[in-house]
Amino acid sequence: MKYRLLTALLIAGFCRFSPAAAQGSSTDQLPVRGFCIAAPNPEGLDEFIGFIEKDLGPNGINTLILRVDYRYQYNTHPELRSENALTKQQVGRLVQACKKAGIRVIPQVNLLGHQSWASTLGNLLKVYPQFDETPHVELPEKYEWPNDDGLYCKSYCPLHPDVHQVVFDIMDEITAAFETDAFHAGLDEVFYIADDKCPRCGGKDPAELFAGEVTALRNHLAAKGKELWIWGDRLIDGKTTGIGMWEASMNNTYRAIDMIPKDVVICDWHYEQAVPTAPYFAMKGFRILSCPWRKGDVAREQVKSMLFYRSQSPQAMKENYYGVLQTVWTSAENFMDLYYGRKQEQAPERGDQAGCFRDMVDEMKR
Ligand SMILES: [Zn+2]
Repeated sequence: MKYRLLTALLIAGFCRFSPAAAQGSSTDQLPVRGFCIAAPNPEGLDEFIGFIEKDLGPNGINTLILRVDYRYQYNTHPELRSENALTKQQVGRLVQACKKAGIRVIPQVNLLGHQSWASTLGNLLKVYPQFDETPHVELPEKYEWPNDDGLYCKSYCPLHPDVHQVVFDIMDEITAAFETDAFHAGLDEVFYIADDKCPRCGGKDPAELFAGEVTALRNHLAAKGKELWIWGDRLIDGKTTGIGMWEASMNNTYRAIDMIPKDVVICDWHYEQAVPTAPYFAMKGFRILSCPWRKGDVAREQVKSMLFYRSQSPQAMKENYYGVLQTVWTSAENFMDLYYGRKQEQAPERGDQAGCFRDMVDEMKR
């Protein structure tokens, strides 16, 4: 699918005087039409495979990012397995369903940041507490935001000499299990970085540390012919843009955008409005995906903007406007309940994830 489109675009690129080449064609479609969700539980697997076959494929979705983390029965590091983890055979069924539906599947394991959630420590730091960037910060019994520690999620120390042996094993095993040539490392909302008390990172430049970690992960994958995908928020200046500390960086990581390899695919999430940051990344040479969550009007604007940017860009930059990616921030089981109308959103005034996905698909089909 992708290659057929690329060929068509290359041919269009040769016709330098054709109006279609200059202005884009009315039949242009986005190379990546993505969907990102937590991997299903073993008991939700059958229904999720049905969802891939009946809903994702037929609606033109061609990329599925599955947030796996430690919900896979790793053989290289069985000590990191979560309860209720998928077996290799179960992942194989997911892979087959995606292949049949023409969908590229990309597993995600959150690296660097997101090593805890509220009061719960993630498996990596539970098993390897020596990797904790902020061991002096204790997880509270009752988590509240904001708090005195500025604790959102724990991070691992990117300069710990042993952390990458473990992380690389996990990346290699999960990409092999999913038979894929791409890996999503998360890397969003990293608030703890270059902590003063870390004997390795204290006093260092957060942008250099962030870029160093991205580059290490990318180089490991690239050596095996695989791609790195990440969320984009740490690469945007939250202060100057007014985008703030969540969808952008207020902790001085954003200069890393000029220090990381250009073949990293950036998933640029903006959930309240379609903030036009895609050209910032595209002009730096990155492939960029705009990502909605629960607001259908935002999803529609992101689809329209992507097509507009593609239609108005020279060929070199056009290819960087890579597509859109619906993000879902609830379990796969809960999403299917919402999508199939068995449940309603708990706070519908804040948005509707299933409705947003339908709007994104509808806008792409126009
Ligand atoms: Zn450190």
